[in-house]
Amino acid sequence: MNKKELLRQQSNIAYNLFVGDDRVLLVDCGNCGATSFQHYCTPEGEISDNYVCPFCGFEGDPSDFPDHFYEGFEESAEFQDNKEFEIDPYCIYVTLHLMDCSSESFAQKACDIRWNIASEVYQKFIDSKYNVETKSEYDCIEEFLTHEPISYD
Ligand SMILES: [Zn+2]
Repeated sequence: MNKKELLRQQSNIAYNLFVGDDRVLLVDCGNCGATSFQHYCTPEGEISDNYVCPFCGFEGDPSDFPDHFYEGFEESAEFQDNKEFEIDPYCIYVTLHLMDCSSESFAQKACDIRWNIASEVYQKFIDSKYNVETKSEYDCIEEFLTHEPISYD
């Protein structure tokens, strides 16, 4: 199974959870964000309209407690965190180009080595303080390379 299918399986499981005959849901608290199980039905068999967060004591109706693995969450961008699949090769190319310009010893290395190093450097750039929205990515990467010493051997 690929990652998306595995994630989808989580929501399939989450919507089929029972303790005995009682359906339970895995939800996130709308107040503190903690994840907890909540009974989907009241003891009378009605759909519950009151969930209580065991962590912060917040009480609310189900709309205050979004499902932890809601339907379709595997499509949600926040779970597309596998950077290797996300990176636009053009960004690595820009990084590689800027590194070529700034270091002769780097520019003389083999293509595949430069590409691998540039990929790693770009990853570091993404997590750095130089990765900002106020400038073009080109300028951001350039500034990162100017300020962050990079060793490649
Ligand atoms: Zn809470």
